Amino acid sequence: MPTNVTADAEILFDVRNVTRRFDGLTAVAGVSFSIARGECVSVIGPNGAGKSTLFNLLAGADMPNEGVIRFDGEDVTGYAPEQLAARGLARTFQHGRVFGNLSVLDNVLMGAHARLDAARRGLPVAGAVAELLRALFQPPAVRREEAALRAEARAVIARFGERLAPRVDQPAHSLSYANRRRVEIARALMLGPRILLLDEPTAGMNESETAEMLALLLELKREGLTILLIEHKLELVMTLSDRVLVLDEGRVIAAGVPHDVRHDPAVIEAYLGHRQVGANDLSRAVAI
Ligand code: ADP
Ligand code: MG
Repeated sequence: MPTNVTADAEILFDVRNVTRRFDGLTAVAGVSFSIARGECVSVIGPNGAGKSTLFNLLAGADMPNEGVIRFDGEDVTGYAPEQLAARGLARTFQHGRVFGNLSVLDNVLMGAHARLDAARRGLPVAGAVAELLRALFQPPAVRREEAALRAEARAVIARFGERLAPRVDQPAHSLSYANRRRVEIARALMLGPRILLLDEPTAGMNESETAEMLALLLELKREGLTILLIEHKLELVMTLSDRVLVLDEGRVIAAGVPHDVRHDPAVIEAYLGHRQVGANDLSRAVAI
């Protein structure tokens, strides 16, 4: 099955024969695909298909038993999340993770850390010493840097409109579930990512919240951001994705443009077993 039709120079993220076994179970079985720069690729599949396991492997939260993961040509297999973040990979979690006692603004500022750490590696002064000097003297350059970061964080928060902007100084624990998810995405954007991995960004969101999130993701895509998405809401997947990858029992059973995947008999069967159903039933089955 052709899952890679893109010229090498265009490929930002490449996954080859990645496998993850848990005891007797192979959760991800020899998965291969690639993502071109600026592309949005979605991974769908029934519960237990291996989506979250695959996502964790790609984000450095887990190690594959076999296979190679390349980010912009570099073999990053087994790299820790911080190493991937320093290279421009940002992720969100399926159930949203924010620092409850920190304000919205501080939560979003946290997203710049990996970026700053990477930049500071280029400094002539050793990291810890540089930190100490900054703490003692707060040179104007550092104050300027902090002010610039705060302005940038406010600009990122402003992308979420009235949902987050009036709440910048509130502690994250006071936010609704949907708003916590927005904060998480804002924090990921603060990294200035080259690729954004989103695990069910609209989980727990109602129809209008989902539509807002879709509008934001479309905007990010228009700006050229490369996106890998795990998502259950098929309409969102079909609208946003350039290509869709369907997993079942750890394997890629279909890959292609949204329209083809939606009408692929193997996909319909994976979702609904052996019953005779049409494409609309597939959308009902996965639009949960
Ligand atoms: P999905 O996200 O598509 O619903 P998962 O990746 O969560 O699927 O799970 C794929 C399979 O791997 C499931 O059968 C699940 O029970 C199993 N699995 C996932 N994580 C672990 C783990 N840490 N230990 C053992 N089995 C796991
Ligand atoms: Mg999952």
